[in-house]
Amino acid sequence: MKTAEIKRRFLAHFEGAGHTVVPSAPLPAIADPNLLFINAGMVQFVPFFLGQRTPPYPRAASVQKCIRTPDIDEVGKTSRHGTFFQMNGNFSFGDYFKDGAIKLAWDLSTNPVDKGGFGLDPERIWATVYLDDDEAIEIWKKTGLPAERIVRRGKKDNFWSMGIPGPAGPCSELYYDRGPAYGKEGGPEVDEDRYLEFWNLVFMQYEITNVRSKEDFDIVGELPAKNIDTGMGLERIASILQGVDNLYEIDEVNPILSKAAEMTGKRYGQTVSKVAGESHPDDVRLRVIADHVRTALMVISDGVTPSNEGRGYVLRRILRRAIRSIRLLGWHEGPALPILLPIARDCMSPSYPEVAADFDRISTYAYGEEEAFLQTLKAGTTILDTAVTETRAASKTVLSGDKAFQLHDTYGFPIDLTLEIAAEQGLTVDEEGFRRLMAEQRTRAKADAKARKTGHADLSQFRAALEQGGPVEFTGYREVARESVVRSLLGAAAGGQGEEISLVLDATPFYAEGGGQMPDLGVITTGSGKAEVLDVQSPLPGLIVHRVKILEGEIRPGESAFAEIDTARRRAVSRAHTATHLIHQTMRNFLGESATQAGSLNAPGRLRFDFNTPGAVPQSVLHDVEQQVNEVLLRDLLVHAFVTSQEEARKLGAMALFGEKYGDEVRVVEVGDYARELCGGTHVERSSQLGLVKILSESSIGSGVRRVEALVGLDAFGHLAREHVLVSRLAELFRVPGDQVADRVEQTVAQLRDAERELEKLRTQLVLANAGGLADAAKDVHGVAYVGTEAPEGTSANEVRTLVQEIRGRIPAERPAVVAVAARAGGKASLVVGINAAAKSRGLSAGDLVKGALSGRGGGNADLAQGGGVPAAEAPTLLAAVERAL
Ligand code: ATP
Ligand code: MG
Repeated sequence: MKTAEIKRRFLAHFEGAGHTVVPSAPLPAIADPNLLFINAGMVQFVPFFLGQRTPPYPRAASVQKCIRTPDIDEVGKTSRHGTFFQMNGNFSFGDYFKDGAIKLAWDLSTNPVDKGGFGLDPERIWATVYLDDDEAIEIWKKTGLPAERIVRRGKKDNFWSMGIPGPAGPCSELYYDRGPAYGKEGGPEVDEDRYLEFWNLVFMQYEITNVRSKEDFDIVGELPAKNIDTGMGLERIASILQGVDNLYEIDEVNPILSKAAEMTGKRYGQTVSKVAGESHPDDVRLRVIADHVRTALMVISDGVTPSNEGRGYVLRRILRRAIRSIRLLGWHEGPALPILLPIARDCMSPSYPEVAADFDRISTYAYGEEEAFLQTLKAGTTILDTAVTETRAASKTVLSGDKAFQLHDTYGFPIDLTLEIAAEQGLTVDEEGFRRLMAEQRTRAKADAKARKTGHADLSQFRAALEQGGPVEFTGYREVARESVVRSLLGAAAGGQGEEISLVLDATPFYAEGGGQMPDLGVITTGSGKAEVLDVQSPLPGLIVHRVKILEGEIRPGESAFAEIDTARRRAVSRAHTATHLIHQTMRNFLGESATQAGSLNAPGRLRFDFNTPGAVPQSVLHDVEQQVNEVLLRDLLVHAFVTSQEEARKLGAMALFGEKYGDEVRVVEVGDYARELCGGTHVERSSQLGLVKILSESSIGSGVRRVEALVGLDAFGHLAREHVLVSRLAELFRVPGDQVADRVEQTVAQLRDAERELEKLRTQLVLANAGGLADAAKDVHGVAYVGTEAPEGTSANEVRTLVQEIRGRIPAERPAVVAVAARAGGKASLVVGINAAAKSRGLSAGDLVKGALSGRGGGNADLAQGGGVPAAEAPTLLAAVERAL
């Protein structure tokens, strides 16, 4: 049964049983700051389970796209873990419970294929349940599962919670026995490869509190409305129904794997064993390639592009691992993705037509990343070669951890590659040193990120602050100051003068950094003290935390407070934010719909806007964009924000990465009829308040992502005024009118270049003028005419070579001749040796002479060779060494 058909049957089964079919949320987990990618079907329903929102339907079913980054290292080594996979799920919100969930799962699994089911043999199904969940055991028995195939397991495996206070409960998993070829008998406790978990049923039954860890918490009591959340791995059930050994061999993945095997000339399935853990390393690599190529396709399709942080970095690692793996299997004929990605597209487009429709964009990013990585590999290899030579020259056999770290850190050169190349050269690598440096760097980065974002408070404090009074109201869209109450200080009982603390107000006009907009700054005053606001962050949705420094007195929780933002700063930031929307829309007008935002920064008076577009934006287009934006300012358009449903916003054509949870309300900001975008930021009231927008620069920040920087308002004016002064000054210096300065500079530069060339010619002539004299003065060394001399200080490398050739040419051809010229430049000495044909037939070689003098360093051939890099003072020694070798 094809994967697409399994998916169809799953949804049909549950739709038939009164479930509303809900589309998959996109892979990026936009609503949850602690999650990069959606990792389960229930994620988009969390607000229903937490009781934050009323579900519009009592039952739902979905096939959710998922990514589990922690499973990346399992790929190919187990039979059941993909990076990307699809989770079939059915959900009940206070509707049916254990009885219903078990029956629905059992029926679909065991109903015959011609009756719409999966036709699994009931004799091969096992179930696990939580230790004391006798209720579930009874239901399983009643359903027809004998007691010996029902296994009780502990909290680690069979109790589900989100790791925070709220709903939790036991779960029950369905396993399928694949038979003795896959491992030992004895049920899931004994072998999770033979007994394959394909479905997990979670019974949300309790409310928990005092969560100390995933397995350590207190149960408060039963939930008034009990919920069901299930997850069935689509790929896992497909591997069972298609009779293949693992999920890399199913119809949606196998064609990629086969192609990679064909490209590299590997025969997949080299071991007799069906157990993934016992596979040949080549088979594991082929699975990694297939999995990662498919994952990359789906991730880019959902709007993520390769970068150095967050989701983009996960994507980059996946792509690079795939590229690297195919190389390790012996593929060296240029880029591999142009061959593999179209196959992944054809595998996935029956279920996800958008990967075909959007393939141009998707492939541009993927291919661009491969090009860049191959470039990196090339550059890194050269640097590594040098390091290997140096290590050898110092008579060492271990490449330093420093070097390996530098290669990794600066050139993105993977450590496994460093190990491999070093090994080929007979060297080992100080891996321990490398790992220590990596660990140090990670600790530093973590500490930095944490200090920056949270002011050292940890997540549980934030959760407590949120629970204490519910979501904090942000009132800054309509007011710049307000009366409020200090709800809590984080990690402190009170704050005294001079201290820096974090505090939460019940309601605040302060905008927390977000959506690319810098936070508001300002002052908070209470009856007993006054504090300056240094930073404002929102570490959890609904929570706003002010980082403040206490200027006078002290600040205590529970006090009333007056919160007042710095309005000049707010206005300047808002101007930048509105300008960003205008530039975004205008870029799309000129470059097409695909020029979408990839990131932004809105600071007082200046902005940075990153967007997707394949190549550099031509200067003329930048100019037109700037012109159009400024025209929009003059139209004095009304800037208006309103809240509406997602469906409505989409209909209005608002620009956004759509697909936040269905039914969500969104805020739309429009600038007249010109630009319309989903946005939570603050803006000006009319476009004319921006005054002036000046684009400063455009540059690349990664393959397919460009960045423009611009100034807004008085900052833009100030910039233009300074440039004007600069041009006036140059005009004065060059004594021409302003509009001729550029031509004059061009002329002057050309003249200078000519003069330099003339000088160079004269110097060469001067050096060569000596050639005749030097040739005449050749010494006879054992029958060889030998000239050894030093070139005048500052002679260029080219000139030295010319000089050697010139002298050699002046010695009669029948006389064996060796010419050696040493030169000094920049504190280093270099050596060029040339010999003629007669000397060559006596067995001499210029290359050998240079290497002899420089203990192995140098390059060239038998006729002409050069080398260098030793201290300048050694120039005479080099010449002496050549002479001795004759
Ligand atoms: P395992 O122990 O096998 O890793 P899990 O306990 O992590 O599985 P759940 O979190 O219960 O899995 O997810 C529900 C279902 O999703 C599983 O029953 C399985 O069918 C599927 N699933 C989980 N992780 C993956 C993965 N990495 N690749 C494919 N399917 C998966
Ligand atoms: Mg798992």
